Amino acid sequence: MKWINRSDSQANYEDRRGRGMKRGAAFGGVGMIIVAIIALLLGKNPFQAIDMVNSVVPGQTSEEVVDQSRINENEDLKVFTLGVFNSANDVWTELFKKQMGESYRPPTLVTFTDATSSGCGHASSAVGPFYCPADEKVYIDLNFFHQLIRDYGARGEMAIAYVTAHEVGHHVQKLLGIMDQVNQYRGRISEAEFNRLMVKLELQADFFAGLWANQAQRMNTILIEDGDLESAISATTAVGDDTLQKQAMGYTVPDSFTHGTAAQRTAWYKKGFLTGDVRQGDTFNDPSLR
Ligand SMILES: [Zn+2]
Repeated sequence: MKWINRSDSQANYEDRRGRGMKRGAAFGGVGMIIVAIIALLLGKNPFQAIDMVNSVVPGQTSEEVVDQSRINENEDLKVFTLGVFNSANDVWTELFKKQMGESYRPPTLVTFTDATSSGCGHASSAVGPFYCPADEKVYIDLNFFHQLIRDYGARGEMAIAYVTAHEVGHHVQKLLGIMDQVNQYRGRISEAEFNRLMVKLELQADFFAGLWANQAQRMNTILIEDGDLESAISATTAVGDDTLQKQAMGYTVPDSFTHGTAAQRTAWYKKGFLTGDVRQGDTFNDPSLR
């Protein structure tokens, strides 16, 4: 992909790079271990959304420590990610207005180093990029992108863009009330049934991520180039539940899937990418998904 007209606006951006959180003495270390174990149990799934709440440790004291040498860490990735984030907000502003007659409220992008506090609790980089519905912020430790390339084998810029567009997709789900509807079922249906709802939520965010690329090109923000779809698919394949579980345990447990298989994630991303049509993203009423 090529930028035609990238917005570097920092109006909805909070830069916490180089500002790590030191844990309070009373709980020091324990929370980090819990988060690490949970990340392992989840197969180190780098994409957490509302289920992120399970991985954060609320109510702990922590103090900010500033590391000057890391304040501008991953500056190129920051500029790129902020460009995708601003573009996604432009796309959704227009779609909300044109297709729903409603106004869109953008989330805030937060970049951080190692660990930070969020409206969903204390978060370490181990849980990966996530959207917190309580404060409407997208949290990304930019070092995750190195991990995505190194450990998960993703390739190219569209793979990186996919992550940000997916998290903004979760914000859209919050604004549309979809996230609340799904959350109402938490604890009221079996875990396997609830996991199937979570899969639909994740696949819709993947669809929204693909839709972003299509719409951003239409709005003259980016130019899609040969290999971009393949680049994004290298990421959607890498983060499928089946891929991650196989990596972590050597076998898959479909009932525990909360994000969808590699094939499902790829298919929904592709549908959004190729159609750019928001009406085709109803994963909740799709007959192919039980
Ligand atoms: Zn997600």
